[in-house]
Amino acid sequence: MITHQEISEILARYDESRISFATMCSHSALQIFHGARLEGFRTIGICTPSRRRVYEAFPLAKPDVFIEVREFADVLNDSVQQRLRELNAVVVPHGSFVEYVGADKLLKEFAVPMFGNRLTLEWEGSREKMYRWLGEAGVELPREVGSPSRISSPCLVKFPGAKGGRGMFVASSPEEFEQKVKEMVSRGLISPEEAQRPVIQELVVGVRYYPHFFYTPLFSNGYRVADGRLELLGIDRRIESNIDELHRVVTASRGGSWPEPSYVVTGNLPMVVREALLEKLFDIASSVVEASLKLFPPGMIGPFCVETICTPDLDFVVFEVSARIVAGTNLYPMGSPYSHFLFDEPMSTGRRIAREVREASKRGRLSEVVY
Ligand code: ATP
Repeated sequence: MITHQEISEILARYDESRISFATMCSHSALQIFHGARLEGFRTIGICTPSRRRVYEAFPLAKPDVFIEVREFADVLNDSVQQRLRELNAVVVPHGSFVEYVGADKLLKEFAVPMFGNRLTLEWEGSREKMYRWLGEAGVELPREVGSPSRISSPCLVKFPGAKGGRGMFVASSPEEFEQKVKEMVSRGLISPEEAQRPVIQELVVGVRYYPHFFYTPLFSNGYRVADGRLELLGIDRRIESNIDELHRVVTASRGGSWPEPSYVVTGNLPMVVREALLEKLFDIASSVVEASLKLFPPGMIGPFCVETICTPDLDFVVFEVSARIVAGTNLYPMGSPYSHFLFDEPMSTGRRIAREVREASKRGRLSEVVY
């Protein structure tokens, strides 16, 4: 495991007046580059050859420097890490970055300063740890059905290796569970080992909200949590295929046979929540931050998203926490209906990250927000 001390030593050798922002050309990279540019930083795109054209297609969000790799996992190569350090890079780990490289490898092998507390990657990367974190926060979670034999109503079945809503299924009985697990293994969607570790949850019915929070230890005016401030920068809802369009089949087929529901993310929609519900969302997010401070100090720093379902009783059930920038923030490159009340200038999550680094550097506290 690369220690905070090692990263602080690397940071101490950086020329802080020439920090650049680096990330992998995927997920929320355009927003990250655009935001860093607005804050006056140089940007570096780690890119595969075929993606480069896409990032050159947006002059205002194009990275200043490209580091080409054969495949994204090559970011771990010594030569790439060396180049990033030479460029005084602070890496922003987004969802694809973590997925392509693996949280474990980033923690053990990636000796380049990253924005935030890298220990969060370990806590959000494993479902067991994530539920422990959410359990410590005391938020309402979907009810878990301990064993497949106890499935008696529609349940969502998730597996350790699956991501982006892929490789989950709905089962309403033990028989349906067994048949679908077999199918998934034979289609190579999960390994036989993963098949032994299902998480079986009640299928919560309600409206999904994915609020984008940012926790800063540098500021304390506003919504105070511990010694810092919790900011709500936006809310989205994922559009998932085919579940979000299944209702159309009912109309079209008038009761004929239905396709299997699936939850693969394809995009995002902007959302605002009833203003009276903001209190509950802030309560949830502040408990998540407080729990992180206990479990893996210095805890959750920077952007995170609590993924929720609002029930007809107006309670929020939390089914996941993403402890990094989420792709739903791409909706708001120039700010959201909430960020306007925090900043009197356009503020995306990407720009907010860059602002935090600039502010931390100004106050001599860079190693508190970069690890
Ligand atoms: P990612 O890691 O990319 O966030 P994932 O593969 O870990 O995705 P989840 O985020 O847990 O999967 O779930 C994917 C989608 O399934 C959610 O966006 C939501 O629409 C739906 N979902 C998850 N859990 C539940 C639940 N308990 N009840 C109803 N719907 C759920």
